[in-house]
Amino acid sequence: MENIFDYSMDELKAWFKENNESAFRGKQVYDYLYRGTYEIDEMHTLNESSKAKLKEHFDIFLPKVLEQRTSKDGTVKMLLLLKDDNIIETVIMNYHYGYSVCVSCQIGCKMGCTFCASTKGGMVRDLSAGEILSQVIVAGNIVGERISHVVCMGSGEPLDNYDNVMKFLTLVNAKEGLNLSHRNITISTCGLVEKIYALADKKLQITLAISLHEVTDENRKKIMPIANKYSINDILNSVKYYMETTGRRVSFEYALVRGSNDSEEDAKALVRLLRGMKTHVNLIPVNAIKEMLYLPSSNESVTKFRDILLESGIEATVRREMGSDIDAACGQLRRSYLEKI
Ligand code: SAH
Repeated sequence: MENIFDYSMDELKAWFKENNESAFRGKQVYDYLYRGTYEIDEMHTLNESSKAKLKEHFDIFLPKVLEQRTSKDGTVKMLLLLKDDNIIETVIMNYHYGYSVCVSCQIGCKMGCTFCASTKGGMVRDLSAGEILSQVIVAGNIVGERISHVVCMGSGEPLDNYDNVMKFLTLVNAKEGLNLSHRNITISTCGLVEKIYALADKKLQITLAISLHEVTDENRKKIMPIANKYSINDILNSVKYYMETTGRRVSFEYALVRGSNDSEEDAKALVRLLRGMKTHVNLIPVNAIKEMLYLPSSNESVTKFRDILLESGIEATVRREMGSDIDAACGQLRRSYLEKI
């Protein structure tokens, strides 16, 4: 059985044609799906033979909401159960500009960043394009409104699941489907340099975010194993190429850990690295996770760090902590769930 959400409308049309039905059936099915009809028997305009073929070949399966927690700030964190009983987590954030969904791209992660809960249980498998898309569909069904933004910042490394994530970008953008603009999509990466070049060459209008977190290779290697493969300089070169090729700005994420990467010298070194680039830095006081003793920087050092960037002409904001009362950060809900069972 194939997952129907892996299919674009054109692919569905082609599938019907190959199966001796009119291509038009593909459009009908697609319209049903993206207007919320998931039961084949409720697709009344379809002929019986199309229905029978659909049932035989496709699963119309959306992940089941296993657990749903709503934070005081409106953030909704969901644990979703997939067809093969794997569990992923997806977060819905309610911003003034609309609903943004933080999707997972893999079950687990193999990048091994020391501060991140998603990687602690290792990598299970990639998510298919349809499974990534389903998270946005389920989120839209829950809030009963259009989802306007997507960030690929849940579990997993999006560029390590490159082909499926590229397919997801096509699916989510489809006019007759969710119709989400690429400009409203952010892909966050720990810095897979070759894939950043490949992505740049696609000339998409998505936003790229780089998880930098340290200002020297030596220190970055201590917390992010990927730093053994690519230097900060390699990353910055690929980012410059991305900017030139796509015309988009790239943002950097920097999780501030008390006494570790949050000094004035660190801020100044970050300024030297990013000087001359039109960029934005997201400062995130690190979320403590159970497995590691990391403390977030004090408010005072966060503000100081941000001001040094701002004074040097580098745009910087402190990421509002959302949903911290519901284990919303970075794979933590899934971890705590898996530990219970
Ligand atoms: N693999 C991708 C996307 C997933 S993580 C990446 O590395 O960018 C999304 C962001 O959350 C990354 O910037 C990641 O470094 C950050 N993150 C992970 N664990 C965190 C924690 N405990 N506190 C703060 N940020 C964290």
